Amino acid sequence: MRVVVNLCRPVALVVAFAVAVWGLLVSEPMAQTQDFTALARIDMRESQIRDQRRGIVVDLALSQGVPYRVFTLYDPARLVMDFREIDWAGVSAEALLAKGRARDVRFGVYRPGWSRMVIDLAGPMVVEQAGLRVDQETGQARLKVALGPASDEEFKRLSGAPIDPNWDLPDPTGVGRDAGARFGQGPLIVVLDAGHGGIDPGAERSGVVEKDLMLTFAREIRETLLRAGGVEVVMTRDEDVFVALERRIAIAHSVGAHVLISLHADVLAEGQGQANGAIIHTLSEAASDAASEKLAERHDRADILAGVDLRGADDVVAGVLLDLARQETQPRSDRLAQNLVEAMRAAGGPMNNKPRRSGGFSVLKAADIASVLIEVGFMSSPRDLKNLRNPEWRASMADGIRDALQIWAVEDAALSDLVRQ
Ligand SMILES: [Zn+2]
Repeated sequence: MRVVVNLCRPVALVVAFAVAVWGLLVSEPMAQTQDFTALARIDMRESQIRDQRRGIVVDLALSQGVPYRVFTLYDPARLVMDFREIDWAGVSAEALLAKGRARDVRFGVYRPGWSRMVIDLAGPMVVEQAGLRVDQETGQARLKVALGPASDEEFKRLSGAPIDPNWDLPDPTGVGRDAGARFGQGPLIVVLDAGHGGIDPGAERSGVVEKDLMLTFAREIRETLLRAGGVEVVMTRDEDVFVALERRIAIAHSVGAHVLISLHADVLAEGQGQANGAIIHTLSEAASDAASEKLAERHDRADILAGVDLRGADDVVAGVLLDLARQETQPRSDRLAQNLVEAMRAAGGPMNNKPRRSGGFSVLKAADIASVLIEVGFMSSPRDLKNLRNPEWRASMADGIRDALQIWAVEDAALSDLVRQ
């Protein structure tokens, strides 16, 4: 066995690039016992997350060594483990987790080339030890991370998402364009935002997963819009990867978007209003109803669960300036939402009996881009689910969305001229 890294407490962040071992595996034919896929697999029989003494130990048996990093986040307390890269097929949270101080575990694709595991911690804990050993005979690897108890203060001091260009995608750039400009000359730039993705699956019903369904629908809408012409379409994601809500807005800004449409098909519990039919949400501080409040909360929570560090996201001074810009954008978003209600109804609907709602949806917070969130239907409604799975139904909804955008673009350009005069 070879110890690649073995760090002792307390460490804020552990990064290990098992490059030396990598080279060894590639150059020597001894790794014949494993299939030569680029992704490591987890041997479930040998892997577990369990309590150990006063802390937790994460013990993962891997088919090969992979670069990884480990860090903690607080509010709520989480352990985040990033890998390059793991195939999660066959990995089950139930089998992995002996529930105790580790409350829950999620894993999946985080960004292209990244895999992430997030473990919810019962309380403040710090990484005491993290090490990856690679067996030179078999090429298999063992990753052990030990967490020990810590004071709140120590935990906070050592927690935080590291900034590391080797792991982080660059921020979307190219802000040379006039972000959020009114539509006048040139194409209408529409950002389609397929909800959820990667480690965050969204709602799931009868084998249908919201993140997959919404990606399919976003691609279909893109086709419809491009066929109609006069439109440039940008997707916040075009594969099964996680994209933080803040990043979705950054993408829209970077391409100078006029419109952002976020697509969802969530599940609502009974008793939270009529959970069927399409709803168009716009941004508001106070939610229009309890169901919208729940949905907005859940979408933010999905980011937290996926290991996004939300601390420091609010800036009071910037907030004031943003509010001014929003005053101008809000009526444009409202008009778009109203157009969508009418056009989608005309395309066959069905719309919810209260189809225009609002709430504190983070993805709608771009101050200068007309933004709406469409609940295309609710997967908790059998009728909606049947529609959502039907490509013909989706095609008519895509037509409705196209019609609404075309009408909106003409209105917006006309109103813009009025403002200029
Ligand atoms: Zn959703």
